[in-house]
Amino acid sequence: MTARISHWIDGKPYSAVAERTGDVYDPATGEVQAQVDFASEADVAEAVAAAKRALPGWRATSLAARSRVLFAFRELLVARKDELAKIVTAEHGKVESDAAGEIARAIENVEFACGAPQLLKGGFSENASTGVDVYSIAQPLGVVGVISPFNFPAMVPLWFAPNAIACGNTVVLKPSEKDPSAANFIAELFAEAGLPAGVLNVLHGDKVAVDGLLEHPDVKAISFVGSTPIAKYVYETGTRNGKRVQALGGAKNHMVVLPDADLDLAADAAVSAGFGSAGERCMAVSVVVAVDPIGDELVAKIAERIKGLRVGDGRRPSSEMGPLVTAAHRERVQSYVDAGVESGAALVVDGRTVDADGAADGFWLGPTLFDHVRPEMSIYTDEIFGPVLSVARADGYAEALDLIHANPYGNGVAIFTNDGGAARRFQNEVEVGMVGLNVPIPVPVAYYSFGGWKDSLFGDSHAYGPEGFHFFTRTKVVTSRWLDPSHGGVNLGFPRND
Ligand code: NAD
Repeated sequence: MTARISHWIDGKPYSAVAERTGDVYDPATGEVQAQVDFASEADVAEAVAAAKRALPGWRATSLAARSRVLFAFRELLVARKDELAKIVTAEHGKVESDAAGEIARAIENVEFACGAPQLLKGGFSENASTGVDVYSIAQPLGVVGVISPFNFPAMVPLWFAPNAIACGNTVVLKPSEKDPSAANFIAELFAEAGLPAGVLNVLHGDKVAVDGLLEHPDVKAISFVGSTPIAKYVYETGTRNGKRVQALGGAKNHMVVLPDADLDLAADAAVSAGFGSAGERCMAVSVVVAVDPIGDELVAKIAERIKGLRVGDGRRPSSEMGPLVTAAHRERVQSYVDAGVESGAALVVDGRTVDADGAADGFWLGPTLFDHVRPEMSIYTDEIFGPVLSVARADGYAEALDLIHANPYGNGVAIFTNDGGAARRFQNEVEVGMVGLNVPIPVPVAYYSFGGWKDSLFGDSHAYGPEGFHFFTRTKVVTSRWLDPSHGGVNLGFPRND
């Protein structure tokens, strides 16, 4: 008997029997370890109804009481972060130290949300007109949906849920069906922290659940993170249905290495950012752009480091890189390696024959390095989302920038150089949302906001930070006058500020 993972609705596990379920694998052994319930339309309605019932009470809860729940949740998360990391590793496959990193960044978002009383302050203008005061207030949107991807099963839900809740909304979270348990653990911790039933609900499933949220009239906003085609679909469908939507999509992140860079540091960074989490990060470096004449030397240094990487079961402390999330994803990534060879790229390190420290049936694929990758090759055009690093050559800074600009994605980018002038020019010119200067994975801290440009984000608001608070509230501006006898008299003219 495999374990069952059910929805979390109205502060408790949902007991109704699911008509459809999905397999949840242990990627390091290849075994099915659980079945996750897939929501029907009726289940979507139950989750949204629970969130709607909880809304009036939560919206009216004082700022102090709301932030106290968030502080308590933060303490519980810190106390139980190792357990959560193990849950992430068991279903996603990433090594435990990497899962711990994901949770550390998630905690920073909870800490940010704890500042809600300060962040929700509006403006106030006394005497905007004689005897008239004007002020703004930020109010919650209502029931909001959060739809998250498989690659950060703890962090991405916590990019959104704490801020949405802090702002007085109630939430239906639809996590990835590939690694659903982290979301339930988070919901249980929130309940233990004192969050009232129905404020955070977890609804598992696939397209039926997503479409149900996109179409439900009581869902006022959607925060989505996933691949670009689905992000576009979610944005178009959600906005057509009158919802506020932020939909973060895929990526193809470039790392430019200028000839003056320290090539050892650049090679360290390329390998860390290319193969961490087996390349299953939207901020992974997938293309290194080596600017002439350092290409051969840089590729040699990257290859040398890759050969030392230890691939194995994420639960073993010696493992540096775990398996891919599913067998199907592993096959897809391997097919890109095959296509890269066929298209004439130089295969410098072949991960297809990796000797992993783990069970034979795990979803293993070793780190792979291609050199002389051209923009027309599918390993360059497509987001592979696996441990495949491409090196493209450029004859100068301008060609490197052109390559980045010709790419449809604009999530993250990095430049490695010791030339401050070149770095400053790059940060000004590059059309990408998150830029690293000698920093390969420039994920903004929680008090900035996260978001790409171009096909990496649909909508106006970036995720978390100040833009997260902006997304989860709508403002009202109040113009007030407390009458005294001096205000008498009819005047049909447009109100002037005298
Ligand atoms: P995905 O698009 O397959 O799934 C994301 C979510 O959408 C999941 O909850 C899934 O159940 C749902 N979904 C899948 N297919 C659907 C469909 N046809 N209709 C409606 N809903 C559907 O993405 P994934 O494979 O889970 O995650 C990897 C992708 O996410 C990569 O492209 C990666 O770059 C991207 N990502 C982006 C960011 C970012 O911040 N920009 C962060 C993390 C991941």
